[in-house]
Formats: sequence, structure tokens, C-alpha cells
Amino acid sequence: MRGNILIIEDEVEIAELISLYLEKEGIKTFYAKTGEEGLQKFQENKMDLLILDINLPGMDGFQVLQKIRLESTIPVMIVSARSDDSDHIMGFGIGADDFVSKPFSPKVLVARVRAHLRRNEINSIMNHNLIQFGDFTLDSEYYILKKQDREINLSPKEMEIMVLLATNPGKKISQERIYQKVWGDTYGDISTVTVHMRRIRKKIEEDSANPKYFKTAHGFGYYFEGDMQ
Ligand code: CA
Repeated sequence: MRGNILIIEDEVEIAELISLYLEKEGIKTFYAKTGEEGLQKFQENKMDLLILDINLPGMDGFQVLQKIRLESTIPVMIVSARSDDSDHIMGFGIGADDFVSKPFSPKVLVARVRAHLRRNEINSIMNHNLIQFGDFTLDSEYYILKKQDREINLSPKEMEIMVLLATNPGKKISQERIYQKVWGDTYGDISTVTVHMRRIRKKIEEDSANPKYFKTAHGFGYYFEGDMQ
């Protein structure tokens, strides 16, 4: 089993126990003692699952989860003492995927982690609309662009241009054609396409003057070059 798992837990012994069992399965674990530290680690690494305690010093697990849900659909398992938290969790509906009460059996925890990771893998295999390039995943059906697990905001027109180019990798598409497809007009200011391309590149290219993915076909239009060249 592969994957990166973040454990946010203030009780070191519990975190170590979880980590020990998961690492035995080949999973890489990251540990944070507080919610704040956990959020930072979450930003820095691509995680596949989060194991979250509720009672934490400072920011509590609910607050952590709310923040994470603003930008990610990663599976989240809450591991917490039932007497403290179960009522809250049942009522909260803040987007946890699973709940394990303390004390717990590490083997059961590992089995549940495995189930979540497998489901994620199946979802991504079944989803044919995903186009991947670099750290980016573009969902061409639902119009969502993510960098790792973070959603990148594109305007509707920027998104339509990106999907048009990315679903036709390597194909040079003229500015006029892009304009017609995206704006639906035959007549209009074609330089709008250039303006939008510039914005797209600013949002995703490391060096927008020298783009890696959304390239210029000089004197003609644009094309998308994926990773599979
Ligand atoms: Ca705790």
C-alpha cells in the first residue's frame, strides 16, 4: 500500500503507534502535534489521507477540518475519545469520512485506512476526464483545476480555453477558433484570447514568458503540450 498520511495528534504515543502500523504497510507518515503545524505540513506535502484528533491544544480538530475542506476533498479519519466528541461529530457534518474512537485497535485502523486509499485509487482510475500535467490535474467535465490538492481559481472563460486546449494535446488551435468556441461569436475582439492566455499562464506556468504547457503557435494561436511527449 502506498501513500502519504498526515497524523495530527497531540498525544505522541498514539501518533507513534499509528505511524508504526502504517509504516509497516509501506505508507509514509507525517506527524504534527498541533492543528497549526498540521495545516502547514498539509500545504507543504501532497497527502492522501488525514488522521485527525479533535481535542488539540490551540486550534481544535473541527477547525482544522473546516480549513482543509475549503481546499481539499482528501479522506479524513477522525480518531478521538468517544465520550468527548462523538455527539459533536454526529451533529457536525463538517466533512469527515470516518470516525475511530479511542481506544482503538491499530489493525482495524490500518484496515480502514487501506479501504479509503483503495477507494480513492479506484475513483481516480475511473475518472477518465482527468488530464494531468506537472502538479496539475484538470477535470475537463466538472471544470476544476487543482495543483496537488489545492484548487486553482480560473474564470469561466479561462477554464473553457484551458479545457479546449488540454483536451486536444499537441493540436494547434487558431486564436479565431478559440474565440469562436469560447465566446460563441464570429465577430469580436480576438485579442481577448491573448489577454486570457496571459492570465492562464500567470496562474499555472512557472515562467509565463516561457510556458511549459500552454504554448504559442507563432502567428497562429496556441496549443497544449502535456507531460507525455
Ligand atoms: Ca488529543
